[in-house]
Amino acid sequence: MSGARRSLGVALAVVAMAPPAHAQEFTYHPPGDLVPGSGDGRVDEKVYVPGMLFPIEGKAYANSQVYGNGGLYGPGGGQCDAVNYSYPWRDNYCEKRSWGMPLCPSGIGHQGQDIRAETCQKDVHWSVASVDGTITSVGSYSVYLTAEDGTRHDYLHMDSVQVSVGQKVTRGTKLGRVSNNFGGTATSVHLHFNLRQNVASLGMVYVPTYLSLVKSYEATQTPPAPRGAVELFDCERIGGHAFDPENPDDALTVEIEVDGLPPTQDHRVVANRHREDLCDVLGSCKHAFLAPTPRSLFDGKPHELRFRLIDPTDGKRYELLDSPVSLTCGPVAPTAVRRPIDLASRKAWGFSAFWSELPADASSLPVGSPAPKEPLAWLDPSEPARLWVRDGDVRRELPTSRALDWNLDVEGLEAADDAVLELPAGRPLPERAELVVVDDQRFLLDSTESAPPSPPPTPTDPLGTSADSSCALASVGSSRSLTSSLGLLASIVALGLARSRKRAAAR
Ligand SMILES: [Zn+2]
Repeated sequence: MSGARRSLGVALAVVAMAPPAHAQEFTYHPPGDLVPGSGDGRVDEKVYVPGMLFPIEGKAYANSQVYGNGGLYGPGGGQCDAVNYSYPWRDNYCEKRSWGMPLCPSGIGHQGQDIRAETCQKDVHWSVASVDGTITSVGSYSVYLTAEDGTRHDYLHMDSVQVSVGQKVTRGTKLGRVSNNFGGTATSVHLHFNLRQNVASLGMVYVPTYLSLVKSYEATQTPPAPRGAVELFDCERIGGHAFDPENPDDALTVEIEVDGLPPTQDHRVVANRHREDLCDVLGSCKHAFLAPTPRSLFDGKPHELRFRLIDPTDGKRYELLDSPVSLTCGPVAPTAVRRPIDLASRKAWGFSAFWSELPADASSLPVGSPAPKEPLAWLDPSEPARLWVRDGDVRRELPTSRALDWNLDVEGLEAADDAVLELPAGRPLPERAELVVVDDQRFLLDSTESAPPSPPPTPTDPLGTSADSSCALASVGSSRSLTSSLGLLASIVALGLARSRKRAAAR
């Protein structure tokens, strides 16, 4: 007896993700390797019906009924014994029978494969259509399903048959339940499954079923891999989506590798934004990512960006569709004023070297007052397309369409109250937050005119900047968990949506 085969490629993932009770790994004896003494099998690596759906829902165990536990020529025991409901599977096409079988070594044998369902209870587990086709026969315990290519799929020993002759069915349609019906005397509880196909020079014959069953069963055991796509990339925004069908509520992190260098913790964006088009395609909406194009790329040189999602269960990386992409942006010549920003403030704003820092020489720029220590922002109560950001003793205007460029989450903001609106309005904020590095110090670029008066704000701020104030603190941070879906942003991402839809349909 030769060893059992492992189900290639899927075993580790199954073991890692399934609860312990179901962790038994699917293995199978090779085709033609029958129970010793039960006949000569056909060693045949051909998959006669590639891509079919496995004909029973849930777990299943293909093995001999007659030569297994509880069988007429078996080693004893009962049909419900655990050994019958375990892997490895075993072929029993060509097992000793009196049927004429031209493809079997002895010319006679068993016409198909016997398969036990998940348990030995009868009339519980569903048999389903393995292909699209037409029901061409229904007997007292049998259903024949004929595919468009003429291959007949035979289901025997069923109960609770749900279909009738002439009925068109699609892959997955419930046909009946696995049972032990056999006309008169009952057999063991199992599905006998045949494939009858036209074979050159032989005509319509029962062909080996085993490997078609192995392949289709493997497909049911393989967890669908996480996936996603890069749908938008230019010098304004990068965006796309990432999704794990096994954990549809999880927000995945997308890692961005630049020019083949190992990504750091900063090279990440979370795919947790609501995008309407994803709802239909994925059955879950909050899986988009969108971010300002990283300022560190703005050096006028081409860069290769490789996008990979990180599977949170095992840390494995999956590259997104349409990755890598190539981008050439900038260079940008900083003008106006640079304002010192310390580490704590950079963290509070969610600024980082990768996302925020321009590779530009700003040493000749005048130094302004320190940058705001943290993002304090409010929606304008009368103008929904505008928000106000506190900068020292002034409020500064920013279009909500630019919130993303300052790591501000519009949905997390409250409306400005009178205390905010009574502050003098300064110059509008620049369109995007950009940092420069001069002598290892970080500075926030600003427009000259908007530099707030010196001295910089004191810790005893009358409006209160502490965490317990009623002011809405914009939620920022390295997660860049921005969830706005405002007009301009929507129109920017819309570019990518049509492609995403097309791709998903093609998948
Ligand atoms: Zn059988």
